[in-house]
Formats: sequence, C-alpha cells, structure tokens
Amino acid sequence: MKLAVLKEGASGERRVAATPETVKKFIGLGASVAVERGAGESAAYADQAYADAGAALGSRGDVLAGADVVLGVQGPDPESLAGIKPGAWLVAGLNPFGERDRVDRYAALGVEAMAMEFMPRITRAQSMDILSSQSNLAGYKAVLDAAAEYGRAFPMMMTAAGTVSAAKVFVMGVGVAGLQAIATARRLGAQVSATDVRSATKEQILSLGAKPIFVENVKGIEGEGSGGYATEMSAEYQAAQAELVSSHIAKQDIVITTALIPGRPAPRLISDAQVATMRQGSVIVDLAVEQGGNVEGAVAGEVVERHGVKIVGHRNVPSRLATDTSALFARNLFNFLSAFWDKEGGLPKVDDEIGDAIRLTRGGAVVNARLLG
Ligand code: NAD
Repeated sequence: MKLAVLKEGASGERRVAATPETVKKFIGLGASVAVERGAGESAAYADQAYADAGAALGSRGDVLAGADVVLGVQGPDPESLAGIKPGAWLVAGLNPFGERDRVDRYAALGVEAMAMEFMPRITRAQSMDILSSQSNLAGYKAVLDAAAEYGRAFPMMMTAAGTVSAAKVFVMGVGVAGLQAIATARRLGAQVSATDVRSATKEQILSLGAKPIFVENVKGIEGEGSGGYATEMSAEYQAAQAELVSSHIAKQDIVITTALIPGRPAPRLISDAQVATMRQGSVIVDLAVEQGGNVEGAVAGEVVERHGVKIVGHRNVPSRLATDTSALFARNLFNFLSAFWDKEGGLPKVDDEIGDAIRLTRGGAVVNARLLG
C-alpha cells in the first residue's frame, strides 16, 4: 500500500493533508508514504520532519507513481495527476458541487475520488469529519480577524482614565463555526448574542453564556434537522428573520455570519440597508463569503468598507491557521483510512454507509447519488 501526499496547488492554500505524526502512524500500519517535496512547508511542517517520520520525499511524478491512495486537502487539478494509477483513491475535500466539472475529469482518469466533506454525520464518523475540524478553527479565527479590524477593545476595562465598554458580538449561524465563535468572543470578554434557524441551538447558545435571539412568530427547524443541516427557509420565515435582525443589528459592534445550506448558495442574512444602521467602526466577518455570502456587499478575499462598517471576506479561513487545521485534517484522513485498513495490504475496505456517501467516481463514471440526483 503506497500513500502519496500532494503539495497543494490551489492559490492561497497553506494546509497539508498529512503531518509527520500521521505519516508515522500510516507507516506503523504497514504503508509506505511518499510526500511531495515542500508539501508541508507553508503549514510549518518541514520536509526533514516527514523524512524523519519515514516518508520518501520526491516530485509530484515520483509520489504519484504506483500510489494506491493519494491524499490532498483540496482536489488537485486533474491535469497534475498524469501518471496516476487507474483505480487509485483520491481522498480530499473535493468541493463536489462547486467543482462539478472536475469530478467528471477525475472519473475520466479512472480514479476513485472520495469527497471527505460528504462524510455522513454519524457518531462513528465524527473523528473523520473535515467540515467540523476545519469549521471549528475557522470560527475561532473569524473572531480574531474581527478583533484585529476593530478599533476598540473586546472586554470591559475599568482604567484610571475611564471605562472601556465591552464589545457586543452577534453570531449568525450556530453550527460548529458559530459555536466556536461564541466561545472565543466570550473568552475575549465580549457580550455575545446568537441566532440560528434550528431551535436545537438555543440551548447550546445559553450553555456558552450567550443570549439567543430567535424568530418566535414563525416556526424554524425543530430538533436537529437532517444530519444537523439547515434547509432553505420559507419566505415568511425570511421576512420575520429580516425584521428581527434589523432591530438587533444596529446595537451590535461585531457580527460574525456562518450560515450555510449544503449544496445551495449561502442564505442572505444582512442587507446593505441593515449594514448602514450599524455604528461607524463596526466589523462584520462573513465566513460564508465563498458560498455566495450571508452579507450584501461582502467580497471574497477582501476587507471592504460600507457605510463606515468593515466587511471582512477572507477566503479559506482554515488555511489562515494552517498548522493546527492541517494537524486536524490529517488526523481526520488517518482516522478514516485506518478504520477500514486492510491488513493484507490492499485498499481499505470501506463499508457501504460511508463509502456510498463519499465516493464520487468509480470505474470511469460519476457514481454519487447526491451528484446524480
Ligand atoms: P453548516 O456549516 O451547514 O451551517 C452553519 C449554521 O448555519 C447551521 O447551524 C445552520 O443551521 C445555520 N443556518 C443555515 N441557514 C440559516 C439562516 N437562514 N439563518 C441562520 N442560521 C442559518 O452547519 P455545521 O456547522 O456543519 O453543523 C450543523 C450541525 O450539525 C451542528 O448542530 C453540529 O453539531 C452538527 N454536527 C453533527 C456531527 C455528527 O454528528 N457527526 C458532525 C458535525 C456537525
């Protein structure tokens, strides 16, 4: 069993799909591991550390030659996979909806592409869930990014020169990223409120010491929803939510938006008119900017100013904490492959529940129900 670890090719991507720690563990299972030279450099994992862990370092061609499983953070350009063995697995975050054409090209290469973001949300797969591991740190970083742009302090401070009041932070979308944003803002001393469409989040918000702000007159999503995911809300709900946000947002200093709907554009939660009601110097961080944005006027890859309010739209926020996000991503991949490890040295024997969920291509064709249906 040969594993190949690619150097990421996407612009601005600093993460790496294996760390010296996981390389060592794979070798412990009997695999050989080849790491593309420089793969870990931008995440502070040196080539020498991989070599010390037992990996062979080489060029893209060297590592791909004869590889059974190829690991990436993002999906590699199919053209860069020349020489890959038909039937080899490509295991990465493949952005299947966003890069649908690329999935066809993986099929044409004859590889078995496994999209780690399609991992089902079942208890035994929690340790393999890249969406959770990466969103968690993105939620943390969003608050730090807001603090860095904000010309005031977060905690209340009583000084000899007078009192600095606590920042008011509003978190919209309380999934994995939102929960971590709430916790981080609280640790920094802010007064935090939060909202979501899923009623189950109310208790989570309270348990973190924040205030839930919920649409009460129209029903949201009761319970956990399908796999914990939200769906698009009715026009009636959207109108009620807009009214609620309008009355709340004008009193906030910082807003962090994280709302996503799988396979759909991100819901629009804040209009330009609502931004205009915020105090000068306020900051909004839109973590959904690459999925279409929760905030009107947010621009992917930029910090823009509208009505005196900064709207932060960093791309690929997990990559901004590349050392830790890589370590967690790499463990997600290890936990997945090792759970199905074949002691005889063949490809891992993944069961149907997980295999059918994440497998995009096989035998030259696209086979994933979510892409076909
Ligand atoms: P996500 O990234 O898909 O969405 C972020 C949040 O935005 C969600 O809470 C969603 O309800 C919310 N949202 C969507 N539309 C909205 C709108 N119009 N207004 C306000 N909020 C809106 O979600 P996620 O972070 O991946 O996690 C969602 C849930 O899944 C969480 O409860 C999490 O605990 C659960 N989860 C379970 C497992 C598991 O069991 N293995 C793993 C990961 C996450």
